[in-house]
Amino acid sequence: MTDKGQKPRIAFFDFACCEGCQLTVLQLEEKLLDLLQHVEVVEWREAMSGKADSHDIAFCEGSITREADVQRIKTIRNTANTVVGLGSCACIGCHNALKNRWPMEDVVKVVYGSEAGQLDSIPARPITSVVNVDYRILGCPASLPEIDRVIKCILTGQEYPLPNQPVCVECKLNDTLCVLEKGEVCLGPVTRCGCNAICTAYGDACHGCRGLMDEANLMAAVKVLTAEQLHPIMEVVARRYDVGQDQVRQWFTMYNTPDLQLKEESEQT
Ligand code: SF4
Ligand code: SF4
Ligand code: SF4
Repeated sequence: MTDKGQKPRIAFFDFACCEGCQLTVLQLEEKLLDLLQHVEVVEWREAMSGKADSHDIAFCEGSITREADVQRIKTIRNTANTVVGLGSCACIGCHNALKNRWPMEDVVKVVYGSEAGQLDSIPARPITSVVNVDYRILGCPASLPEIDRVIKCILTGQEYPLPNQPVCVECKLNDTLCVLEKGEVCLGPVTRCGCNAICTAYGDACHGCRGLMDEANLMAAVKVLTAEQLHPIMEVVARRYDVGQDQVRQWFTMYNTPDLQLKEESEQT
């Protein structure tokens, strides 16, 4: 808790990632100026110099990919009253976890060459698999409207339950033409909404950057997106891409590798 009258101190921390989510927070622009009336930013490497000994609210971006990261995120958790997982790297593993699907030795060789030595590198996972977080902001990059919503919830002491509907719902609310009708493959039917279906609004497909919904029927989605399905709309997609189930599963790994691994493990038991 902060002392009476004192503004809560916010810090931003990054783990393995591209730091695009921190950049997105900066895109709050005027809202950021409003925010500064209510909080004190004490550490934010991407935006200011200096480090702080303590903080009340920690925004944590990126994935855990080294043993050293594990202790670091635990220390941040122990120091902060409130921890926010910022972006899909932090909350679902995102691109970082793609490496988990190959032997670490091969991954190191591909990235650093055959002369590469030992690296402090472990299978990538979201920070949420190491510590509990109080809030999650999804998206690659983190969804700007969700950043705004979560900050308001933090400052007013409210919880922020993640939406648990597919992106398709937001498409319908926006009256967006379904890209399946154009013969594009779209992962929206099993992807958690909350981005206001921004990609489909601009005519692109949803690539699943906010991760799977709870209880997403992944196996059904894989079948529906392949030539095995029967729906006339999907025939357009199947004719255009001639995709098999392995290809569809690969599309899902782009952001969801840890979830897929868990599903595979539970199917085998
Ligand atoms: S979620 Fe995407 S934009 Fe954000 S840090 Fe990770 S890779 Fe970058
Ligand atoms: S465009 Fe994608 S997300 Fe939108 S309604 Fe169609 S399948 Fe669902
Ligand atoms: S439409 Fe899909 S890919 Fe685009 S931001 Fe939303 S969840 Fe991510």
